[in-house]
Amino acid sequence: MHYISTRGGIEPIGFAQAVMMGLATDGGLLVPSQIPVLDPEQLRAWAGLRFQDLALEVSTLFIGDEIPRADLKALIERSYANFSHPEVTPVVTVGKRRILELFHGPTAAFKDVALQWLGNLFEYLLEREGGILNILGATSGDTGSAAIYGVRGKGRIRIFILHPKGRVSPIQERQMTTVLDSNVHNIAVRGTFDDAQAIVKTLFNDLAFKSAYRLGAVNSINWARILAQTFYYFYAWGRISGGDVGRRVSFSVPTGNFGDVFAGYLARRMGLPIERLVIATNRNDILSRFIHTGVYALGEEVYHTLSPAMDIQIASNFERYLYYLHDGDQALVCALLEDFRHTGRLRVSAERHQKAQADFEATAVSDPETLDQIRATYEATGYILCPHTAVGVRAARDLPEAICLATAHPAKFGAAVVQAIGQEAPLPPALQGLLERKTRCVELEARAAAVKGYLEATLGTVSAP
Ligand SMILES: *Cc1c(COP(=O)(O)O)cnc(C)c1O
Repeated sequence: MHYISTRGGIEPIGFAQAVMMGLATDGGLLVPSQIPVLDPEQLRAWAGLRFQDLALEVSTLFIGDEIPRADLKALIERSYANFSHPEVTPVVTVGKRRILELFHGPTAAFKDVALQWLGNLFEYLLEREGGILNILGATSGDTGSAAIYGVRGKGRIRIFILHPKGRVSPIQERQMTTVLDSNVHNIAVRGTFDDAQAIVKTLFNDLAFKSAYRLGAVNSINWARILAQTFYYFYAWGRISGGDVGRRVSFSVPTGNFGDVFAGYLARRMGLPIERLVIATNRNDILSRFIHTGVYALGEEVYHTLSPAMDIQIASNFERYLYYLHDGDQALVCALLEDFRHTGRLRVSAERHQKAQADFEATAVSDPETLDQIRATYEATGYILCPHTAVGVRAARDLPEAICLATAHPAKFGAAVVQAIGQEAPLPPALQGLLERKTRCVELEARAAAVKGYLEATLGTVSAP
């Protein structure tokens, strides 16, 4: 399997190189040169597999012989051993609704499914090449802890995560700062999330620094993350259909950067019998507006909502869909992105817009509707939805048979849950005892020079042979 850029500016590369590259060097996103398509026999045979075995089969299609099967199998087993549910991503029934629970990983959010595997992939590939990687990132809450748990304790990887001091929830802060492994560096910057993000951007743009210190990112554009997110679509279909390939299922997906729902689109292109895919957004509705109008246009600002992991202005995986929507026409993708860069909007043709409407449904859900859904589900069933999951459930209100992806445990978003139902969700094992544990974190001015100095001081000592 080879990987190419959505913008056509790189020579085809293999899977390992695509994982290490992350963002394509021409600024585009990496995609496989071809999407593998399964025949119905194969699908039927896979329907009864356990999650890990299914993950092995699906990922082999994209990795080929670049990783020996026994190694890949061990890597996958390791990645999902830290999940607290034996099924990894179980499908549960809540009233008449099916929910695909993706929050049984070590940080209680769906990002663990991809980041546990990505951390192990990085480690495996670095071991093979004899390299090291220094991950630098900024977080407003969820991604930071999932990334930290993905790489903690790994000898060839160090991770530096910036968070805005005092501006992430106490649980989210503790999830990061209680990880005491020596390769984990939490940095609280005295500023906002935007300040932290800007610092990371400045340091990545300092190309000499970036290459000398082998800085890498773990953002949601890494192809390996998309791949890992297809596993649970296959798994859920298998549980529901029992292998009956005539049985199609629909999914509703709480959406921010478009990684999760894009994985569903990919699974469908691979032949998984998916009927409808619902893009569920909060008030930050650029994707929902695109599906309804064919115009992808920046909103006025990023709104802070009760589902903060979906508070995005630009969906970073959308470019992958643009590429497939235009049948891999890279020149056209470049032209559309150029429009977007200059004017903050792009428009696809009427024909492509129709195709997009056949691919996805989309609904934007407000905060009051989110609260109302948490309350209604709780009153009817006793089940507590996290606010992101509630957005997905509300968006699928007219599709009772759609499986809703539960992207976080409700206890991570206690304030919203209390607002909806007057009580908190009980803490899952992953979040218990956090407040009593020892923490480690440095505090720095919100200036790139301060963070750069900290990295130099730390890596200067740690990386000396
Ligand atoms: C990241 C995240 C999302 C959005 O997923 P995307 O792949 O960015 O669309 C939804 N819910 C939760 C809880 C998340 O952490």
